[in-house]
Order: sequence, then structure tokens, then C-alpha cells
Amino acid sequence: MKKRIFITIISITSLALLFFNICISGFLTYLLSDNVKNEVRRETIELKSMLETGYNIKDIPLTNPRITLVSSTGQVLFDNQHSDLENHINRPEIQAALENGAGESLRESDTINQNMYYYALRLDDGNILRVAMVTSSFIGILGPVFLISIVILLFIIFICLFVARYQANAIVKPINELNLAHPNAEKIYPELVPLVNNLNLHNEMRKEFSANVSHELKTPLTSISGYAEIMANGIAKEEDIRIFANKIYNESHNLINKINDIIKISKLDENKIDLEIETANYDQLITSCIEKLDKFIFDKNIKVIYHHVNIYGQCIVYVMEDILYNLIQNAIKYNKKNGTVFITLSEDKNNVLIKIKDTGIGISKTELPRIYERFYRVDKSHNTAIEGSGLGLSIVKHGVGLHHGSIECDSDLGIQTTFYLKFPKQLIKR
Ligand code: ADP
Repeated sequence: MKKRIFITIISITSLALLFFNICISGFLTYLLSDNVKNEVRRETIELKSMLETGYNIKDIPLTNPRITLVSSTGQVLFDNQHSDLENHINRPEIQAALENGAGESLRESDTINQNMYYYALRLDDGNILRVAMVTSSFIGILGPVFLISIVILLFIIFICLFVARYQANAIVKPINELNLAHPNAEKIYPELVPLVNNLNLHNEMRKEFSANVSHELKTPLTSISGYAEIMANGIAKEEDIRIFANKIYNESHNLINKINDIIKISKLDENKIDLEIETANYDQLITSCIEKLDKFIFDKNIKVIYHHVNIYGQCIVYVMEDILYNLIQNAIKYNKKNGTVFITLSEDKNNVLIKIKDTGIGISKTELPRIYERFYRVDKSHNTAIEGSGLGLSIVKHGVGLHHGSIECDSDLGIQTTFYLKFPKQLIKR
């Protein structure tokens, strides 16, 4: 964190300084060259009137600015800084002065290799008087400004070492000192409120989960212990012993199923599951689920209508088996006697599509949004005869999420329930 704050401050400062350098250098270049231009023009006009009133150029005691007198053919008649100069007829300011009486040019001097501003005026005798002065270029100004910025940057880096440490401590300390069980107890800064709210929610959910688990396990255990007690006390009639033993067997079976579901959902919560992706034949997955549910199908005399079709897709096989098993099992469990279950497997370009429809008891529109909640069982009293933990559809939903798929449910109370599943054929680990 310290390093991050340090790098952020330095990066922002460097960028700001760079921007400042460019702006200030541009501004100074404009300001200084404007001064030079005015100065040179003023000087040229003054010299022109001196020369035209009879002064000899050689008698004017100026070494700066540079003064050049050029004939109308470009021959250099006089230059106060250089001798033996070539013909100047091609210089733009001379050309302009010959044509219009005045001319100017801003360029690097061929003679002295410096950025110069030239101003030329045609004299009454046809000669051209040119005055020139060195003017600062953008790069020439940027150099020194840049040096100053480096000094400032070094100073900021030094200050930053302390600021970063202080800021990092100020951010991290309240997080390290957070009491995870009672996050509200600590003093926090506003940005931590979402984290604390999440922790509170998580704690609430954990408490609720534990309470639900205890309740769900207590019910079959109470039955088991009740029947066992009657048998142990010798109160049970000989002919009832078999019935009670059967009830104990069923309840313990129910208990094992619930414990398995609780273990599954806990593992999914903690991401403690093996996410090995394989290419599976969905037809085989569905067929094997139907076979496993054979006894339930037989007991309720359910007709399962499924047309085999070979469709392949990538999935986490044992999670997909769980999804299909839970949904087909529900379609049988919550079906009416002699009802029907329709299973349709199909595909589009990128997805595997599965539809599981039953002609069972259905779910009311008000209950529908809650069916994926943990331990939620529609109309508990109605359902006590049907074994279940209320965790099946939460496991399904979680599994669908692991496959980046979607699940939708449509139901009409007392008529039908249909689940629509969609899974991408290519499953990429995220
Ligand atoms: P359970 O273990 O109780 O079956 P689920 O999480 O699988 O738990 O389902 C939650 C509730 O949704 C069930 O208790 C049941 O009331 C309702 N439900 C699920 N599937 C169906 C279905 N096919 N038809 C009618 N109700 C269903």
C-alpha cells in the first residue's frame, strides 16, 4: 500500500510538472519573443530615421543588436558583428522589405546558429536596413525550467516517503484492528462502511445458517431418539418393532441426505470444490440421473418422457450431475401420483439447453422468487410429507453459477412447473 501511494503521488506530480513545464515554457517563449520583436522594431525605426537624417552607420556605437545594411542587390554593405558576408538577397525579411518596404523573419541564423528575430526596412536611398536580435526558442526555455522541475520533484519524492508511510498506516490500521465478529464496534472511516456492512451481513447469514442447520437436524434426530426410546423401554409391541425400525431407518436416511446437502453448500460457499472441467455427453448425464431415480419413479408411477439426443458440452461433471439430479428429483417429488415429467435436451450454436417440466403441485407466483433461498420450502406444512432439506435449489443455483449458465422457473399452481437451464458449451475457468 505504501509503495502504491508513493508511486501514485510521484506519477501524478511528475505528470503535473511535465504539463506545467510545457505550458510555462510556451508562455515564456511567447512573452520573450514578443518583447524582442517590439524592441527590434523600435530600434530599426530609430536607426532608419538617424540614417536618413545623415548619420553614417559606422559611427553608431552599437554592438547589440546586430545591424546590417544591405544594398538593393543583396550585397552586404555593413554588418556591425560580422565581416565578409555572402549576398543576402534570398533572406525572406530582405525580400519582403524590397517589395513592401518592411519585412520580418524568425529563424535560426545561418551565420551564428541561434534563433534570431530579423526586422528590415527599406531606406529612402533603396538600401535595406536590417536589425536582428537573439530570441529564446521553446526548447531553449524548456531546458532550464525542466531543471528546476527536477529539483522540485526530488524534494517531493523526499516528502512523499513520509506522507506515503503515514497515509498507508492511516488506511490499513482501522482494517487490521477491525473486530470481524463485531465490526460496528470499531471507529472506521466512511470508505470502510461497505466492508463493515458486508461483514455484518455475512455474520447474520452465518448465524441464520447455523440456526437453520440445527433446526433441520434436530427434527429427524428427535424422531429417531423417540422411536429408539420406545423400543429400548420395551413399551413397543412385537408387531410394531419392525415399523419403528423402518421409521428409524427412513429418518436416518433423511438425516444423512440433509447432512450431505449441508456439506455440499458449505463446500460451494468456501470454494472448496474441485473445478475440473471435462467434455461430457449431456444425454448420458440425464439418462444416469433418471436411472438413479428409478425407485421414486416407480413408487409414484411417474411417466418420464425423454428423447435421447447426443449433445456434448464442457462442464464440471459431478456438479452438473447434482444440478440435473436435484431438478429431476424435484419434478418427481413434487409431482402428483401418475404424473408426467418431460425432459428436453437441445442446443444452439454456443449453448446446451435443458428443459425439465412436471405436471405436479406447482409453485404460486408469490413463492416463486424465494425457492432458491437456503432452507426455503414452499408451504412447509404442505411439504412435511415430502422429504427435503430446502437446500437442493440453492445448490442447483450455485452450480449453475459455476458453469456461467442460467436457470429460470415458470410454474402454475396445481398444474405444472418448468425449469429452463442454459449452459455455455465452452466453459472457461474464471
Ligand atoms: P427440497 O429439499 O425441499 O426439495 P429445494 O431447494 O429443492 O428443497 O426446493 C425448495 C422448494 O421449492 C421445495 O421445498 C418445494 O416446495 C419447491 N419446489 C422445488 N421444485 C419444485 C417442483 N418441481 N414443483 C413444485 N415445487 C417445487
